[in-house]
Amino acid sequence: MTEATDAVQSARAAADRIAKAKRLNALLTPIKELRKSLVQQAQTVHPGGVLYGMPVAIKDNICTLEFETSCGSKILEGYRSPFDATAVAKLKAAGALVAGKTNCDEFGMGSSTEHSAYGRTIHPTEKTRVPGGSSGGSAALVAAGAVPAALGSETGGSVRQPASFCGIVGIKPTYGRVSRYGLVAFGSSLDQIGVFGRSVHDAARVLSVISGRDPKDATCEGRDPLRLPTVPENLDGFVIGIPKEYFPPDLDPGVRRACERAIRVLKELGAAVREVSLPHTPYAVPTYYIVAPAEASSNLARYDGVRYGPRFDGAPDVAALYRSTRGQGFGAEVRRRILIGTYVLSSGYYDAYYRKAQQVRALLAQDFRNVFDRGVDLVFTPTTPTTAFKAGEKLADPVQMYLSDIFVCTANLVGLPAMSVPIGRVKGLPVGGQFIGQTFLEDEMLEAAYALERAVPAVEEA
Ligand code: GLN
Repeated sequence: MTEATDAVQSARAAADRIAKAKRLNALLTPIKELRKSLVQQAQTVHPGGVLYGMPVAIKDNICTLEFETSCGSKILEGYRSPFDATAVAKLKAAGALVAGKTNCDEFGMGSSTEHSAYGRTIHPTEKTRVPGGSSGGSAALVAAGAVPAALGSETGGSVRQPASFCGIVGIKPTYGRVSRYGLVAFGSSLDQIGVFGRSVHDAARVLSVISGRDPKDATCEGRDPLRLPTVPENLDGFVIGIPKEYFPPDLDPGVRRACERAIRVLKELGAAVREVSLPHTPYAVPTYYIVAPAEASSNLARYDGVRYGPRFDGAPDVAALYRSTRGQGFGAEVRRRILIGTYVLSSGYYDAYYRKAQQVRALLAQDFRNVFDRGVDLVFTPTTPTTAFKAGEKLADPVQMYLSDIFVCTANLVGLPAMSVPIGRVKGLPVGGQFIGQTFLEDEMLEAAYALERAVPAVEEA
């Protein structure tokens, strides 16, 4: 059998598996279009790449030549990008197949994939629950076994939180590790493309392919692609910090048990485990929900019905055209973010909100430097305060929804690499443990994750 027929078989099998997962509403690409494109891609893909024939699903806010890029929004319905995001181009060059576009909260704004203009994504095993968000479609497809890996994006935890809810691995690299070219901007100083995999290795090898310099993104560091570490025998010599602020009294008892068990496993593997303090942690969510909407309000100004997507017409003048397009094209959560963002940036409020938030952001970064300067290599925490919640449960109260990002949004604010690894179940629902690493030291973080993944009983009740 030739290599091309191997890839075509892999493409057909992937299309079948994705079709079987239809009930999850995880994919926005029509299955017929997907199947046809997958087979075509498989016929033309260059053999010999490290991801040869591997189907990788792509979050719908990452531009691809194949398939529409709607960002889960009506305002970009039918939009087709004239170029591939750099991460997608790198995947293709490594032989991967673009396995369709996945459902997400509109423009990445949400924690449950309920804020999509195309309906909510269902949790892969519990249909009354959410898969997390905003990259919930990518997480659900990987968890359902439809694809071995998928790309998501992170502005404030949107890969790690759904990875934790769905029981898979999710990695957010250091800010600047992966090019943002072709990732539709939400909060430009926070955004990074991240990766989902069913194992640390699958996620890590996709991350290594998409990482590295890109002349098209000035915020992407001029570094060689990430080199994958080998799986360590043990964690001798590792110092792992456990920040006490991430274990509040009201932490879900099942999540706490799973984390305590994982910490015991890390010790058995030879790591030295120390309690540490990140004292500004309580300010992370309020800071994030000022900085992210501020940047979003500016980034989303470009959707006005003139250059992209549909135009909600019939307006007498240009201002009315903007109003009707933006009024009808954006969903409620996106409108809320734009309002918050313009408010915190407006004259008279800027100093009280936006400037203050930037100052607190610097303090959050200092917290981590203090811990790492004292010899700690990595921090370990729960990824989320609870397991996957019920659909509808947090829709009426946006602040409750925002609080599900409490342990994940800090890494985006400070630019550090972080990842979620499955560490057990509570009443059948997955729990994720989070590692936060040092700038551009993804390899150390991956070593610890490899070791933990091998030793922790991830599918057992904690
Ligand atoms: N849930 C967060 C928000 O709604 C994070 C989103 C993200 O990381 N894209 O903003």
